[in-house]
Amino acid sequence: MPGGMMNPTCLKGLLTAVAIIVVALSHYFAANEAQTQATARARENLHAVTFALAQHIERTFDEADQISRMMRRSYIEGGNYRELTRSIYRELNPVLYPQLGFIDSKGLYVFGTLPDFKPIDLADRKHFRIHADTRGDDFLYISTPLLGRASKKLTLQLSRRMDSASGEFLGVAVVSINPEQFTAVYRELIGKDGVISLAGVDGINRIRVDKSGFTFGHDISRFNWFQMIIAQNHGFVDVTSTIDNKYRMTAFQHLPGRGLFVTVGLPYDDIASNYLPAYHRYLPLLTGFLILTLLTLFGLSLRTQSLNQRLKTSNDALSNSMRVAFDAIEAKNRFLASVSHELRTPLHGILGHSELLALEDLPVDAQDSATAIFRSASHLLQIVNQLLDISKADSGKQELRLEPVTLRAIIDEMMNLHVVTANRTGTTLTCDIGESVPEQVQTDATALKRILHNLIDNALKFTKAGAVKICVGATASHVRFEVADTGIGISAENQLKIFTNYTQVHDFETREASGTGLGLALARSLVELLGGSIGVNSVLGEGSTFWFTIPRENNMSVTEDRT
Ligand code: ADP
Repeated sequence: MPGGMMNPTCLKGLLTAVAIIVVALSHYFAANEAQTQATARARENLHAVTFALAQHIERTFDEADQISRMMRRSYIEGGNYRELTRSIYRELNPVLYPQLGFIDSKGLYVFGTLPDFKPIDLADRKHFRIHADTRGDDFLYISTPLLGRASKKLTLQLSRRMDSASGEFLGVAVVSINPEQFTAVYRELIGKDGVISLAGVDGINRIRVDKSGFTFGHDISRFNWFQMIIAQNHGFVDVTSTIDNKYRMTAFQHLPGRGLFVTVGLPYDDIASNYLPAYHRYLPLLTGFLILTLLTLFGLSLRTQSLNQRLKTSNDALSNSMRVAFDAIEAKNRFLASVSHELRTPLHGILGHSELLALEDLPVDAQDSATAIFRSASHLLQIVNQLLDISKADSGKQELRLEPVTLRAIIDEMMNLHVVTANRTGTTLTCDIGESVPEQVQTDATALKRILHNLIDNALKFTKAGAVKICVGATASHVRFEVADTGIGISAENQLKIFTNYTQVHDFETREASGTGLGLALARSLVELLGGSIGVNSVLGEGSTFWFTIPRENNMSVTEDRT
């Protein structure tokens, strides 16, 4: 935009854009803040659930360990360990503990609490081998889930070695646990897309529970987040599951001394829907919408700007052409004024000398020529004067001399001037001055005379053997002049044209009178300069009434003549 100015449309567009940016930004920050708070709340809850789950599993393992120790003691002491084990089992929840049993030193499953128990060989099973192969170490081994050969159920085997008092390996006491059972409650807590897992620091997943059931035995040691988990007792990692591809906030908690840890994962989608207030959930959408609106407005403002630019360019072009046109009119007026002025001096010379010649005692032919020269020169002078006047009026340089003017004197002067022509053409010329007409008005006498002269001259020119009447009336504010004739009249269509320069609406052939086509245009300019208006009522073939008004009081400042 030139000169650094900004048009109002652009300014409005810019202010709207700024307002929208402020609203969008505040929404963005509010949404961000809400998101941060929701995430923090979700983390707290997730940590609590994970901690509780770890405690619960820990308690279950403790209980299972107590049971395995009691079973071991009865086995080592050589009493009726079978009966004792059955009586312990009766006190337990059978869904959580599918069975209790013993493997002897050879790997033979010698006793189990299942009703249809039969001895089977379990020598190759890890929960036996780990104790048989690591002599002297007394620890509770927790296996990966296994399909029990005896129970036919997927179970975690918790086993403890049994040694005699002399240190001889006697076998293994085994407590089977249904892993699904101790995660069941927690599945309810983490919603439909949450994931719970129990895994070992050995990188093997003991159990992973999600909505589709549970899986186990995956090697998770290759994931980056696994390295983070084994480095700390508890904390959070972000995990994208290779199983369902979901991105989850995942809390972890180690079970001290067991080489195991618990994880609970909650999808970030659920965090937004569960923890964000409803209003904030729509903020990203709202912000997006606002930004879209902003972009649209910006586009519109650019478009408006380019339209404005185009408008401005065509306006500039228009004002340039107008300036050129005005310059041309100005130049034409100047030319007319100076040419008319220059023509008047020699014309006066021709007039004077031809008049003198006509007075001389000359032969008749020469007399006629001198008279013809005089007439032609008079006519030419009239044209030149009109041209001069019209160019002055058009350029606004017409001199007005406002003074009290006696109307009757003006009308008398007009009558005297035109009565000769009227008599010559057999036309009656009369006048009527109304009673309400003031004796004097403040106006320019020369301009008033020129207007009246042009109208009366035309009336007589276009009326043959008829009547021309000058009427003067008045209203409270204006004096109204009428020049009515019974001449050839003017068609309605032509009435619209005759007040413009150089317009002659009667064909040259039918026009018996000569003229310039400037008389009415000059009359109109002068009337308007005097502060009045002009018009005509006419019927073709019947006659015309030209009228004009001038103000009773004219307080206009006098226009300075600068020609
Ligand atoms: P001109 O010098 O030709 O008279 P005007 O501007 O005075 O120029 O008039 C323009 C035209 O209007 C005339 O040529 C004529 O055709 C028409 N006109 C003017 N006055 C009358 C009238 N009283 N009756 C009929 N026609 C008229």
